[in-house]
Amino acid sequence: MKYKFNSFTLHQLDGHIADLYIAEYQNSLLLLDCGCRSDHSLIVTYITEILERPMDHLKLLIVTHLHPDHSGSAMSLSKKYSIPIAAPEEINLWYAGIRGTMQHMVDSLLAHIAARRRKMKMLRVSYPKKIAVNFPLKDMSLLPGFPDWQVYSIPGHTEHDIVLYNKRESFLYCSDTVVKIRDKYLSPFPVTDKIKMSKNLSRIMNLKVESIAMAHGGFSKIENFSELISYLIKELDTPLTGILKIFYPLTLFPKPLKK
Ligand SMILES: [Zn+2]
Repeated sequence: MKYKFNSFTLHQLDGHIADLYIAEYQNSLLLLDCGCRSDHSLIVTYITEILERPMDHLKLLIVTHLHPDHSGSAMSLSKKYSIPIAAPEEINLWYAGIRGTMQHMVDSLLAHIAARRRKMKMLRVSYPKKIAVNFPLKDMSLLPGFPDWQVYSIPGHTEHDIVLYNKRESFLYCSDTVVKIRDKYLSPFPVTDKIKMSKNLSRIMNLKVESIAMAHGGFSKIENFSELISYLIKELDTPLTGILKIFYPLTLFPKPLKK
């Protein structure tokens, strides 16, 4: 699936667990999240066979947060094709220490469960606990080589999530900050810090956003972005039910890690 903007074309790739996006410019490509470990070949095949581009057109790999469906192929792509990785500056604190190691194990297990729920085969979702970040991103950073994209730090799902705003196109890559399941917009699972999530969502609600891309939910035109965000903030207080309620206590190991 592809979506045409004035300055780039956005390609949506159906990854093992998450949707990945490639922003295609005339002489360069930007990868918005690196998918699972098993998505490495999907990304390479898409670029070389569908886009018919050499791999050296891929100039930057984004990892919005250290979950297996966003960071899994980052290191293998970066090493094999010498592509720099840009990621939140605090990303490698997430799985530090014993608590981090436990969370890493739990997140690997949750990734397998998520893949099964998508009726996917059992594929490799193992991923490193740390990634080698070439460009650490702060709140309000512009992406190196792609200055039309601005970083907004939105911790809440993890302690370091970012979203990427393209003002020129009134477009937001939400990563996991907004998800869409069965046509319903939701907050991600888990929200590890509701207060932070709510505060950070309020920061972006007045951006001019006409379309969004989600890692779980695809691409959507948005009629009223601030209304959508206020709805998500309100919904944060709705108690979890069913399987999510059972798994929620397993998602809180890494807290609270400070720099
Ligand atoms: Zn995530």
